[in-house]
Amino acid sequence: MNRLYHESEDWVAQGACRRYDPEIFFPVSTTGPGRQDADLAKAICRTCPVRQECLRWALRAGEAHGVWGATTPEERRYLRRELVPAS
Ligand code: SF4
Repeated sequence: MNRLYHESEDWVAQGACRRYDPEIFFPVSTTGPGRQDADLAKAICRTCPVRQECLRWALRAGEAHGVWGATTPEERRYLRRELVPAS
């Protein structure tokens, strides 16, 4: 896992992804050939007990790669646009 955490990292150890190949969570793309891995990663995330903490972290960190909290980078960019008012 990325080491940019500035808040409690307790949730990291509880992530469901720790039982799977990390490459599933970093598909080559979220469409075309990488779509299957992205969909699998998102399905695993949906069972994860720390999904909310993970998504919150990814949004705050501006994580540009990988599936975090059942979201793709494109979905997080959309959420940031919707949640963060333009200055
Ligand atoms: S939400 Fe997904 S990426 Fe985040 S800790 Fe859970 S399984 Fe891992």
